Amino acid sequence: MLNELNGKVLIDGALVKGKGPQSPVENPANGAQIGAIATAQPAEIEAAVSAARAAFGPWAALPAVTRAKHLHALGDAIAQDADPMARLMTLEQGKPVNEARGEIMKLAETCHFYAEEATRIHGETIPNDTTDMESTVLREPIGVVGAITPWNYPAELVGWKLCGALAAGCTIIIKPAEITPFTALAIGQKCIDAGIPRGVVNVLTGPGSVVGQALVEHPGVDKIAFTGSSKVGLHIQKSATTVKRMALELGGNCPLVVTQTADLDAAVKGAARRSFRNCGQICIAINRIYVARPVYDAFITKLAEAADALTIDDGLSNPGADMGPMASAEPLAKTKEHLADAVAKGARVLAGGAAPVGDEYENGHFFRPTVVADCTHDMQIMTEETFGPIVGVAPFDTLSEAVTLANDTPYGLASYVYAKSADEIRYLGQRLDYGNVAVNNVDAGIINAPYGGRKQSGVGYEHGREGMLEYMNFKHLRVRYDLPEGAG
Ligand code: NAP
Ligand code: MG
Repeated sequence: MLNELNGKVLIDGALVKGKGPQSPVENPANGAQIGAIATAQPAEIEAAVSAARAAFGPWAALPAVTRAKHLHALGDAIAQDADPMARLMTLEQGKPVNEARGEIMKLAETCHFYAEEATRIHGETIPNDTTDMESTVLREPIGVVGAITPWNYPAELVGWKLCGALAAGCTIIIKPAEITPFTALAIGQKCIDAGIPRGVVNVLTGPGSVVGQALVEHPGVDKIAFTGSSKVGLHIQKSATTVKRMALELGGNCPLVVTQTADLDAAVKGAARRSFRNCGQICIAINRIYVARPVYDAFITKLAEAADALTIDDGLSNPGADMGPMASAEPLAKTKEHLADAVAKGARVLAGGAAPVGDEYENGHFFRPTVVADCTHDMQIMTEETFGPIVGVAPFDTLSEAVTLANDTPYGLASYVYAKSADEIRYLGQRLDYGNVAVNNVDAGIINAPYGGRKQSGVGYEHGREGMLEYMNFKHLRVRYDLPEGAG
């Protein structure tokens, strides 16, 4: 699969060799070069925008059921090739194959979900002050979408944008992260296989500061759908040269609150999963945990045991490993920095704290899942997004203190609670200032419900009906009717 995609871009329905300079793509498990991508050149960016503009009218004009059929076909094509697509993702991103396969299957599910949603683009009629007037609200696709995505979920984060946009009747140009381009190109290939008309889906590779920025500034791009860091999101918002729609899904610094009534084993299991899965490289990863003081010692002991029990390995040769390598040197360096800062300020390392030992780990970005106890808010680990396999824990005395600590962040993406008391759940659920609150589970996002951040975690929603309406304009059509002649 990689051979067909190496060095290519997808423009106007064809996967073609990119004309720009090539840069290497590495396997994060061993540093070996797996392929290369070309930096899309200005002429290629123009060609992709022109193709998407030309395809927009006909695609938007198709009956919704026809767009739905295309999306169902895409979902089938992706599911059929889930194994090679998963291996490709592991090769460039590092997550174990089983996990990568799960992500590909969720992408297929997203195609089917938005296929059905496409057939439910309803409008509204609104009562007027007089009976001769009628107001209708129509929903119309925005136009050409520039989708800019990060490397941690190379399939899903493309898919939410792709499927929402296509269901709405928009066309799209995808700019994946430089370090995980091949999964996006493989999705592009599947769009061709599924018979999606040329120009509807385009994929351009290259550095975000060049190719992504060009899409942001291009007057022919009507909306930017961005997932990535808050820093780049803010830069994008500031640097648009024309008014355009923006959806910004940005960073997080997500807390977990464990109360005295919590099922402690369930809380530990959830905490270990959401702190360390994908090496913590998840925008909704648990970064910090606040535990009711009476159960604090028991919780940290059990969490350290759970972390130590996780297997860490090359995700290609060991598809069922709990963790692979981190995706690149950058988040690993930040993890070590946050760990050193916490230790210097008096925190205790209860698990991990170093790379696993062995020749097989030598050339990869591996790090053991790390639990740091007795943390305070003067430590980076509690106040910044680490994006690594490390979690800080601190005790609390009252629920209101837990709320204050949990909300003490510029971010507002997701938060988690483990509690058995309904009163505690209601108290925390109402007060946590986050777009997503998961209670007694750690899966904050499902495809049927809106998912989005607040504060510096962004604007706009993906998933659910809302995730399609983000790609639509509303039009108010207000008509005055006369009684027909001869009506009496
Ligand atoms: P990033 O550095 O912000 O990059 C994201 C994307 O933006 C990449 O494709 C990047 O390209 C591109 N880019 C960089 N500079 C740009 C510019 N000037 N104009 C246009 N595009 C530009 O983020 P990351 O390091 O890849 O991903 C990690 C971050 O994503 C974390 O903060 C995480 O919380 C966040 N995230 C948020 C969500 C959510 O749903 N809210 C989900 C997942 C991840 P290149 O990398 O190719 O240069
Ligand atoms: Mg980056």
